[in-house]
Amino acid sequence: MKEYSSICQSCAMPFMKDEDHGTEQDGRLSDLYCRYCYQNGEFTDKDSTVEKMAELGAGMISQMYGMPIEKARVFMTSQIKTLKRWSGRIIPSCQSCGMPLFSPEDAGTEKDGTPSSLYCLHCYQHGAFTEPDLTQEEMVKKCAPFLVGQFEMPLEKAEEMSKIYTSTLSRWK
Ligand SMILES: [Zn+2]
Ligand SMILES: [Zn+2]
Repeated sequence: MKEYSSICQSCAMPFMKDEDHGTEQDGRLSDLYCRYCYQNGEFTDKDSTVEKMAELGAGMISQMYGMPIEKARVFMTSQIKTLKRWSGRIIPSCQSCGMPLFSPEDAGTEKDGTPSSLYCLHCYQHGAFTEPDLTQEEMVKKCAPFLVGQFEMPLEKAEEMSKIYTSTLSRWK
C-alpha cells in the first residue's frame, strides 16, 4: 500500500506544493517528508528528537501566528509525536476537519457500517457528510475558536492557520 500524507511526517509542515517535498535516493519526491527534513533518501538531521523538532516548530509557529511560545511548544509536541518518524506509523487525520484518527472509534462510518478511512465521526456518518453543505470557509470558522481557546492566539491568526491546514485536506481540494 502506498503511504501518503498531507503533512511532513517528521516536522508536521503541511505540503502546499511539490517543491515542499523531500527527495528519495533516486530523485523521486518523498510522499512522507519535506525538503527540510529529508534529502536523497536520508534525514538531514539524523540526531533530531521530538523535543528538538517541537522547539524549532514552536519558534516558527509562535512568530507566524502570535501564539505564546509555551503554548506553541505544547501544540507542536502534540502534533509531532504522532508522526511516522517518531511514532512508527502514520496516524491518518480526518480529511474534512483535520482531527487525528487514533482508533477506529474516531472514524466515521460508511453506509454498510464499516469505519471510514478518510473521515471522523463528527464529519461523516452512514456514508455521508453530517453537514453536506459546509464550505471550507465555514469549517475554518468552526475550528478557529477552538484554537483560540486552547492556544491563546488571536482569532484572525487562528483562522489563517486553520485555512492553511484545511487546504491540505482532500474534502477541500
Ligand atoms: Zn519536515
Ligand atoms: Zn472530521
